[in-house]
Amino acid sequence: MSQPVTSWINRCPGDLRIELAAVQATAVEPVVSRAVQAAPAWSRTPLAERIAYLREVQAALQAAQDPLVQGIALETGKPLGEAKGEVGAVIAKIDLAIADAQRHLTPRQVSDGPHPAQVRRRAKGPAAVIGPFNFPLHLPNGAAVAYLLAGSPVVFKPSPLAATVAAQYAQILQDVLPEGVFGLVQGGAAEGEALCLNPAIRAVCFTGSVAVGRSLAKALAGDFAKDLALELGGKNALIVCADADLDAAATAAAEGACLTAGQRCNATSRVLVQRSVADAFLERFLKALACYQPGNPLDPKTRLGPLISQTAVARYQQLLAQTGGSWLLPGAIEPEVEGRPGYYVRPAVILWPDRAVGLASPVHAQEAFAPLVEVFITDDLDDTLAVHDTTEFGLTTSVFTRSQSLFDAMAERLQVGNVYANLPTTFSPSTLPFGGLGYSGNGKPGGREFIRFVTDEQAVQVNAAGFSGLDSP
Ligand code: NAD
Repeated sequence: MSQPVTSWINRCPGDLRIELAAVQATAVEPVVSRAVQAAPAWSRTPLAERIAYLREVQAALQAAQDPLVQGIALETGKPLGEAKGEVGAVIAKIDLAIADAQRHLTPRQVSDGPHPAQVRRRAKGPAAVIGPFNFPLHLPNGAAVAYLLAGSPVVFKPSPLAATVAAQYAQILQDVLPEGVFGLVQGGAAEGEALCLNPAIRAVCFTGSVAVGRSLAKALAGDFAKDLALELGGKNALIVCADADLDAAATAAAEGACLTAGQRCNATSRVLVQRSVADAFLERFLKALACYQPGNPLDPKTRLGPLISQTAVARYQQLLAQTGGSWLLPGAIEPEVEGRPGYYVRPAVILWPDRAVGLASPVHAQEAFAPLVEVFITDDLDDTLAVHDTTEFGLTTSVFTRSQSLFDAMAERLQVGNVYANLPTTFSPSTLPFGGLGYSGNGKPGGREFIRFVTDEQAVQVNAAGFSGLDSP
């Protein structure tokens, strides 16, 4: 068995010569203890005061925007433009979460029962937020802000691959919030597991891979009152109907495949195109992909940054070795771009002329988490839906059609948490909930109104006739 890692150094995936500061793994128990100590006072802090704290956090994040943007780009290789979008989303999320808190945390009066009654939302107690590398701040922030507003302290364990920028973010919150209300645990699987399984942690929001999500669900199955929200992977399809605007569909498919170098849970990794428009669509799609040339993430013009790690490059390489399809774009590994050594790759597109071969391939079974798209040609809408349903994931599907009624009929039948018409699969604004079915999640959508899932409900009813009229001092 390998020893847990106690310290490590991340390098910029877009320029491996750039080394970031060393990170130390954190002992979990003391951080959880501080959260436990902070919990009673934080849960009793009136909502208006918790909101005021979060406004102060928002102002501090605003002031630190530029270093956070640089930090994301440097550590994860996300192009600057995307990193800027992520930090903007972190800041904007606080307004949305406050509005949601005001709507959902207020007690609801119940007047049609035998006695006066109300339903209250109560803080669960310390919560763990486990972050992925690909949205190192935006996704953990969405969960953290909801727990904080609901009165639960948070312990954040970021991905070790994004530890430095996560520490920058955590410091900003810790400088504003009372002691113990926001803790940081650095580390990998061992620290993540120890944190989630700690009995004092009463809620877990995990964003990451299906394998880890499943192991956590198993490990926590016996603790009924500990809440687990799972935001997992996707095998997202972009469906091109016979009547689609092919230019728009091609542009969206390329964007969906290449943003964050394909390392998004809602990345386009499958295209299902109807036979009558397949040639015309594919010609446009390949042209659109030519706009995504690997480049330095710190250059504002770059649209395709590197993958996160050597492991990710190796997985991409294994997928490229699959046979049985025709590679319309062969993809490639670029160990160096503009003199910078990094984990750069080129987009790849595989067409499955024999559907059965495609469906049996690892390219179809796995999340690629790289700019790699498989294409199936379909005969009609029933056939399209049949191919669509050949994966266990159920995160996001985009349908390109000019017909609203066709879209409505498909949306009704598609087994996914998010369905978009004439938009990239990656276009998931914070103003909407975001969650998946099947392997993609466990029915507690993050994004907008995640706050619905972060409290316990308490039903209070009062037979006032039993009160003596004398209140205890
Ligand atoms: P990952 O599963 O490797 O790691 C995610 C986090 O879990 C990291 O912080 C990691 O250290 C931690 N971890 C690992 N083992 C653990 C364990 N046994 N117990 C507790 N924590 C543990 O995922 P990743 O590579 O960082 O992120 C990519 C994955 O995240 C993809 O599958 C992607 O689809 C998914 N994702 C999903 C969403 C969504 O909203 N559905 C969003 C972003 C990413």
